[in-house]
Amino acid sequence: MRFPLSMTAGMAGYIFKNKLMPRREWQKNVKPKADAMNPFRILPSGFDAAEPSRPTLHPMMNKRFPIVLMLEPLHACNLTCTGCGRIREYESSITERVPLEECLAAVDECGAPMVSICGGEPMMYPQIGELVAGILDRDKNIYLCTNGMFIRKRIQEFRPDRRFFFNVHLDGMEKNHDLAVEKEGVFVEAIEGIKVAKKAGFMVCTNTTIYKETDMKEIAELFQFLKQFDVDGHQLSPAYGYSAVNDREIFMTRDDIHEKFREAEKLFKPHRLNQTPMYMEFLRGERDLPCTAWGNPTYNVKGWKGPCYLITDGHYKTFEALMTETPWEQYGAGNGDPRCDNCMVHCGYEPSAALMINATLADSFRMLSWTLR
Ligand code: SF4
Ligand code: SF4
Repeated sequence: MRFPLSMTAGMAGYIFKNKLMPRREWQKNVKPKADAMNPFRILPSGFDAAEPSRPTLHPMMNKRFPIVLMLEPLHACNLTCTGCGRIREYESSITERVPLEECLAAVDECGAPMVSICGGEPMMYPQIGELVAGILDRDKNIYLCTNGMFIRKRIQEFRPDRRFFFNVHLDGMEKNHDLAVEKEGVFVEAIEGIKVAKKAGFMVCTNTTIYKETDMKEIAELFQFLKQFDVDGHQLSPAYGYSAVNDREIFMTRDDIHEKFREAEKLFKPHRLNQTPMYMEFLRGERDLPCTAWGNPTYNVKGWKGPCYLITDGHYKTFEALMTETPWEQYGAGNGDPRCDNCMVHCGYEPSAALMINATLADSFRMLSWTLR
């Protein structure tokens, strides 16, 4: 991983400051409106395993703040990937876009130090270059998540910056990636995009979704193949079973995820993973973490999406409403909502690792050495 030191130091400072002095207006816990009720709510909160009658409090429940804003300027895409929930969930508004000024207002309103521009395919957003420039002007770090098909065509609209990464989605080597995205030639074009971006001086990383049938040896082979282009790191996330695509048998239980990531531990050792060591331990089943979905809030054509990037129980007009009207204690594995039971995705649990929840002193040193590596 090659995050600039100033970027990681800035993130660490932001997290430290907000843990120490969380903004009061985001901790108000407003009672949810009746029409926003999640039908899956069963329990009032989590319960202590050792003493089942005693409710437990999430360690960050009253210290909520965002770390990464997931900004979806549009949901349109040139592909129809097998496991994609977005193009299915937002089918009715697929032609709509968030205006540029509104995207930047969401960045300001939320204030997170990192913005992940996703979608849909954000490289189809007409003002994508201006959006990136506007976010950099606000001194934020950016991941532009893309299938890579338009990098060559639109590269002139961007300027290289150590705070800006193209994050190219690759789910395997050529044959299996093209099968997952249901179109031939996508892998080759994405690789061409990576080459062009690296040659022009941009930071580039990749993002891989792990499905039940993913061969982890193939993902290690992919990382090895990408070495020749000097790619700056890799992200991994277990697939989540969106209701929109849940009829397909490609998603995993927590046990399946543990097995997959244990199997891959040695395979991935030589490669630059962008994930924190604590999140990787969580994926292998070696430590538990609570969900901190407010750490990765999502903004899109319908507003602030709650509770998280994956499941939708409502869209809120303001960021403060998302933070205060969402019944956060009802979400996360074991808290009553069956949709959360097998979820281990990075947007719910990577913030928990970055926040050092349940961390020991030894973990602090490991985090420091991982950051400096
Ligand atoms: S490229 Fe991304 S947004 Fe487009 S269909 Fe695939 S997963 Fe969905
Ligand atoms: S556990 Fe997963 S699905 Fe549930 S709220 Fe957290 S991130 Fe969302």
